[in-house]
Amino acid sequence: MTPSLHRIVYVSRNLMLRCDAADVEPVVAASVERNGRVGVTGLLLVHAGTFVQALEGGHRQVMETYGRILRDKRHDQCRLLSAEPAAERLFGDWAMCARRLSADDRAILETLALRQDFDPARLTGPTALKLLQAVRRIQTTRVAA
Ligand code: FAD
Repeated sequence: MTPSLHRIVYVSRNLMLRCDAADVEPVVAASVERNGRVGVTGLLLVHAGTFVQALEGGHRQVMETYGRILRDKRHDQCRLLSAEPAAERLFGDWAMCARRLSADDRAILETLALRQDFDPARLTGPTALKLLQAVRRIQTTRVAA
């Protein structure tokens, strides 16, 4: 295990009005650059008025990034689901990647038994991480195709 590698997962309520790809784009564009500079990788999922994001990297870099995210008025009710040392990067391909679930992605939510009533309040650290990993796999497949 790389001793300094740390991962957090949080969920928050999205306050962007329409929240389509164009709304999230400024966040992603700025974050790719910032995260890349400090070795932070991660995945941001936008779904059902909710953000779910994993951030991984050095402990200080991850927590400083999360500190800025907490102050951001584009979302609220940030809830830290997990914060722990990590054996490896799960989202190492991306300084930042944003993904919005569409109708094609129902299988992910069904698999995770979240589809019926996606309730961010019920998300736990392990469930959220599983969800993000499933999204990462699909994203990777689509990029490769
Ligand atoms: P400043 O650039 O000084 O901005 C101050 C405040 O102004 C922000 O908090 C925000 O409320 C507002 N603001 C800034 N830019 C815009 C804009 N284009 N439109 C509307 N309001 C704006 N940052 C990262 O570095 N890495 C990440 O992985 C990351 N993920 C994020 C995920 C989500 C869901 C959100 C909402 C934001 C994320 N950000 C991320 C952005 C982060 O919250 C900060 O805005 C950014 O890091 C700059 O921090 P700052 O303190 O310099 O803010």
